[in-house]
Amino acid sequence: MSVVRPDEVSAILRQQLTGFEKEVDIYDVGTILMVGDGVARVYGLSKAMAGELLEFPNGVFGMALNLEEDNVGAVLFGDETLVKEGDLVKRTGRVASMPVTDTMLGRVINPLGIPVDGGAPIHTDKYLPIERKALGVMQRQPVKEPLQTGIKAVDAMIPIGRGQRELIIGDRQTGKTTVAIDAIINQKNTHGEEAKARGIEPVYCIYVAIGQKASTVALVRAKLEEHGAMAYTTIIVASASDPAPLQFIAPYSGATLGEHFRDTGRHALVIYDDLSKQAAAYRELSLLLRRPPGREAYPGDVFYVHSRFLERASKLSADLGGGSLTALPVIETQAGDVSAYIPTNVISITDGQIYLEPNLFNSGVRPAINVGISVSRVGGNAQIKAMKKVSGTLRLDLAQYRELEAFSKFGSDLDKATQQQLRRGQRLVELLKQGANVPMPIEEQVVVVYAGTQGFLDEIPIDRVLEFERGLLEEARLRHKDLLNDIASKKELTDDIVVRLKQMLNDYVGSFKK
Ligand code: ATP
Ligand code: MG
Repeated sequence: MSVVRPDEVSAILRQQLTGFEKEVDIYDVGTILMVGDGVARVYGLSKAMAGELLEFPNGVFGMALNLEEDNVGAVLFGDETLVKEGDLVKRTGRVASMPVTDTMLGRVINPLGIPVDGGAPIHTDKYLPIERKALGVMQRQPVKEPLQTGIKAVDAMIPIGRGQRELIIGDRQTGKTTVAIDAIINQKNTHGEEAKARGIEPVYCIYVAIGQKASTVALVRAKLEEHGAMAYTTIIVASASDPAPLQFIAPYSGATLGEHFRDTGRHALVIYDDLSKQAAAYRELSLLLRRPPGREAYPGDVFYVHSRFLERASKLSADLGGGSLTALPVIETQAGDVSAYIPTNVISITDGQIYLEPNLFNSGVRPAINVGISVSRVGGNAQIKAMKKVSGTLRLDLAQYRELEAFSKFGSDLDKATQQQLRRGQRLVELLKQGANVPMPIEEQVVVVYAGTQGFLDEIPIDRVLEFERGLLEEARLRHKDLLNDIASKKELTDDIVVRLKQMLNDYVGSFKK
């Protein structure tokens, strides 16, 4: 990834300003009191707005972050060595914005909308402010379409709806990014003719990488490309080596690009990977601006920093075109501590969380989702009926299994019913395992989960469950394509489908045992 030169940044920021100069009071100028570490304190500018773009000398731009009685604290987007104490600072009358356009799909851009993938410049006249007010209740409607991740454990038990905010939370290296990337890859099923015929509208994806190593982001991009997912995805990157102000505004840019799709009656999925690093960038800026530190040294308004863009995720009312913006923020915890400041904040803003555990990950349960404490508060409304039906007892079976599992370790004699529950649970746990980057279409998930919860696997040895699954799906794709198609298009388990499903499973179990 190439580095953006500061003069390119100023060129694009200047472009946004045409037509705004006249609205600004030209006497409202300030002088720099101090500058350093990417921030500046400016005396004057008494009418500056929060988030307003400020023009420094030599084409450097900044953003007003801290409005105080006689001075303004600003973060700098350009090269700070070009400005010094005593320089004049002008207002621009404009809140920081970014260009948005469909041609950003397939590209890697920075939070200001400038391509960083070495490709051609992106041309557009459409600029949107990176900070916008979230919509009110009247402009929204409850989520009603599913946003399938292709991950069995999620789609069956923690279903997500279009317009929802679902947190992915866990320690480092527990598969957080993989869950998010798989969700993007799976959106391939919403593009193309087949999806259209089934009445599924396409979902455009935005992956916002905050404070990660540039090499990690390059790997994500390669993975998306490999699966043909870049065609409908934009990556917004503010890597660990980018200045803190860019890392701070990155998720706002992601929300803005998402709104471009949402507000034109389409559907977008935006991933914020991860907000712990964004919070750290904001803390750094705030401490440099000498704001009073609060809990864990974060400034008092860090909750609001996250809620301001997470609240922008929404399902629009029919009057507004019915578009949606789904958000999957990621939070990294330290030693599983979900009660730390930032995790509790984001948990309370979102509509549920997918909790990933290192213990599960290391014992080979991948995705390492702890289904006991993961929830989705609204997505159930959007889940397709077929899945809702087959997964009904799944959560309960697993919960009972976990309780009994502890008992069974004592090796005491167990009665028949308990043994059966253990047997079922072990197979369900095995069945919910899934590799990275192999999302499964919902109709295949229905078949698999049905087989598990209806006891078709109870007699299969545990170490052969995955082999059973693979064979079953091969068989279904090869000889029962019409059944899969019916599940996908009817989205319900009609009596007819259940009969054919049972038939297929009985036949397959018979042949598998041989
Ligand atoms: P970080 O904290 O570094 O951001 P992370 O929590 O985002 O890590 P990932 O990068 O998604 O975790 O995954 C860590 C490793 O585990 C990767 O090598 C990935 O390929 C592997 N992995 C993740 N999920 C699975 C899975 N379901 N099956 C097999 N391997 C997996
Ligand atoms: Mg990650």
